[in-house]
Amino acid sequence: MKPIPYGRQHITEEDIQAVVETLRSDFLTQGPKIAEFEAAFAKYIGCKYAVAVSNGTAALHLCALALNVQPGQKVITTPITFAASANCIRYCGGEVVFADIDPVTFLLDINKVRALLEASPKGTYKGIIPVDFAGASVDLEAFRKLADEYNLWIIEDACHAPGGYFTDSEGVKQNCGNGKFADVAIFSFHPVKHIATGEGGMITTNNKDVFEKLCLLRTHGITKAPELLKENHGGWYYEMQELGYNYRLCDMQAALGISQLKRADEGLEKRKEIAKKYDTAFAHNKNIETPKYNEGHAFHLYVIKIKERLGLYNYLRTKNIFAQVHYIPVHTMPYYQKKGHKKESFPFAEKYYEECLSIPMYPGLTDEAHQYVIDSINEFFTK
Ligand SMILES: *Cc1c(COP(=O)(O)O)cnc(C)c1O
Repeated sequence: MKPIPYGRQHITEEDIQAVVETLRSDFLTQGPKIAEFEAAFAKYIGCKYAVAVSNGTAALHLCALALNVQPGQKVITTPITFAASANCIRYCGGEVVFADIDPVTFLLDINKVRALLEASPKGTYKGIIPVDFAGASVDLEAFRKLADEYNLWIIEDACHAPGGYFTDSEGVKQNCGNGKFADVAIFSFHPVKHIATGEGGMITTNNKDVFEKLCLLRTHGITKAPELLKENHGGWYYEMQELGYNYRLCDMQAALGISQLKRADEGLEKRKEIAKKYDTAFAHNKNIETPKYNEGHAFHLYVIKIKERLGLYNYLRTKNIFAQVHYIPVHTMPYYQKKGHKKESFPFAEKYYEECLSIPMYPGLTDEAHQYVIDSINEFFTK
């Protein structure tokens, strides 16, 4: 068996052709493919604006900047996420405050967030960064209500959930990242995510002012738009109006993204099938706790919980299956420990970390490889 990772990209001949065509075109970066990708992505997600950027971390950083995070400001997020969800606040000098997860959904527990907010004077916190962990959509309607009470912004980290949704109190499906409740949402196009562009990311929003600020910050804070210029010396003239960055995506990547996006629904269906098959295969294995999920789950990860995690992980490696752990709680990282965060602060997150294992989940997983993974896992418990 060839090595089987927990996640990987799915590249077709059409994807390759799309990239090759841009190489033969006039633009390698900042050409027509960026706007085309942004429009297609906004349509897919169902939001007004989409801003393509160089990766998901850059997307988070730009959101924190556009929402004007200042040194010392406090922002709440989950410890069970990739470090970047928290780091974006540190880039702006803000303070990260973690709150524990719900032990069933593994998502940031809104009751824990509420408890934090109630325990401090209003104005102490500025924002919340909930994460659609593993592909499970956060109930953003509830978070919006809470955020409005305390005048907070919301960045939805939707890296795991393109195509995911939750159903709101009126029975309406709300796509992850659609901007209905969160101020901004971010996605990543790293090869393990649903849509791959090598490195890449996207920010989605319905807020025009935020959108314009993001566009400016993405490219050095520089604008050439005549209506925005303070002066105008001629056709060459531009102004740097903010301290921005070079967080652009290039046209070759956008071309790949457009091509990948066309197969997004297909990929999501395949992920669902894989999850169902795992559910059935492990239903009678008392050693394995399979994930509980709602309709609308986007299955970036399939996380099982087992007591003998290290043993199973190592056993699978001998079988050329590379499971992974998502995530080591962010507050236990040496950097955050140095910043004063304490281990044993979040019992559910830490307990989850002891037992979680992400097993292979990607559209290109063949039936044969999938069965091999299932058999290998069941075998571990019967040897
Ligand atoms: C992948 C990921 C990121 C960062 O995206 P990059 O494109 O790798 O920078 C941020 N948050 C979450 C939850 C992710 O999974």
